[in-house]
Amino acid sequence: MTKFSELNLNPKVLKAIDEAGYESPTPIQAGAIPPALEGRDVLGIAQTGTGKTASFTLPMITLLARGRARARMPRSLVLCPTRELAAQVAENFDTYTKHLKLTKALLIGGVSFKEQDKLIDKGVDVLIATPGRLLDHFERGKLLLTGVQIMVVDEADRMLDMGFIPDIERIFSLTPFTRQTLFFSATMAPEIERITNTFLSAPERVEVARQATTSETIEQGVLMFKATRRDREGTEKRKMLRALIDAEGEKCTNAIIFCNRKTDVDVVAKSLKKYGYDAAPIHGDLDQSQRTRTLDGFREGTLRFLCASDVAARGLDVPSVSHVFNYDVPSHAEDYVHRIGRTGRAGRDGKAIMICVPRDEKNLEDIERLVQSEIPRLENPLGVAETAPAAKADEKPAEEKPKRSRSRSRKRDDAPSEPPAVVEEATNTPETPPARAPQPQKDKPRSHSRGGRNRSGRNDREQITVVGLGDHTPEFIGLSFKERSTG
Ligand code: AMP
Repeated sequence: MTKFSELNLNPKVLKAIDEAGYESPTPIQAGAIPPALEGRDVLGIAQTGTGKTASFTLPMITLLARGRARARMPRSLVLCPTRELAAQVAENFDTYTKHLKLTKALLIGGVSFKEQDKLIDKGVDVLIATPGRLLDHFERGKLLLTGVQIMVVDEADRMLDMGFIPDIERIFSLTPFTRQTLFFSATMAPEIERITNTFLSAPERVEVARQATTSETIEQGVLMFKATRRDREGTEKRKMLRALIDAEGEKCTNAIIFCNRKTDVDVVAKSLKKYGYDAAPIHGDLDQSQRTRTLDGFREGTLRFLCASDVAARGLDVPSVSHVFNYDVPSHAEDYVHRIGRTGRAGRDGKAIMICVPRDEKNLEDIERLVQSEIPRLENPLGVAETAPAAKADEKPAEEKPKRSRSRSRKRDDAPSEPPAVVEEATNTPETPPARAPQPQKDKPRSHSRGGRNRSGRNDREQITVVGLGDHTPEFIGLSFKERSTG
């Protein structure tokens, strides 16, 4: 096995690696560092969790250790699709440069231009940025990219999903033709292939995991779920989510709960909170300070449940996430791989549980085709009889304040901007409290902004899946006989 000491890294970088506790390079590091140090372009095909950040930061630092930064002309550039990922890369730089005098600036939205301008004016060795913010600075005439010797594109496939490819192309064209490019993507979509063919020069291709493979340390399961009524789907799904969490008991030390839509991220987080679970949302519509606070809390273990959108959570490195819950089946099969890759990191065990409603079955099929295996079907933790919410038992969720009937009042102390769906959940559609008492709520109230996207207008498919008993159960067992009395 390769050792870090064999990789020709700067001794001060080696010291920092040693202090970080890394014993040996991961495969992407062993594959990418040597060609990067030789000044060659690298095309790294690797998922997050493989150690890919260090695979480009370590050689960059080694190469940049010689030379000095000039005002407004960063010597290297790292482009990341999201602020969180950029901040994480910046943290990596801090860790590995602790014994060197390299300067860096982080250009991300939500941070004042003034502070960022000041740093750039002084001159930085490493500029870490999201594409939009970088171009904003460039257009304001505060930045020159002609001094960039090394350019990194991280998570290129996510850049593609987010529509950043034209920005990336523009940024490439603003940097010198002679630059070295280190380009990373978890998958190689045709558009990514095109970019790499255009902007990389005879790259060393380093591929550490086949496209869309899932880690063997992650136990997976999917619960096939059909709501008793379409208009109850949200309420019943949230109830199911709580039951799935409770069923995991203490094994679930912390979890990321993924939703497809930002509005659902808010609603699910708020609902969990209301039921006494320590949860907070993270998605692109929340302000940066709130996102940072939430993430820090999750990383430090003071927040147990992080409700997230794909974009916000992409690439986040929290080493010990015991569970991932997919509240929705992701509509891009590859997102499933990314989502569940948040758990089972660094050889630890993890569990990934997904809820699949009938209209998502097609997406589930796509995922299973991609990962080339069937995701085991889970038993309904509530049992079939309980799938329909009890009509009469209008019980209060844990720690919820008494509610006044159908009042539209959303001005609760702990939920200043509660989305309507949650209000309805507590008033119109009673939910049975969880079988097991959830952990006491610890976190402080946070304000939540509302996401703006509409729900998908797709119709349910005709096929009926009866939860908990597999596909062989007669249809009538899934029907509720109580519906009419509920109003
Ligand atoms: P990444 O894929 O860059 O998000 O890295 C995933 C995690 O692996 C991070 O927590 C890194 O600190 C950690 N890591 C990176 N390289 C190594 C290594 N050689 N040995 C152990 N852990 C590592």
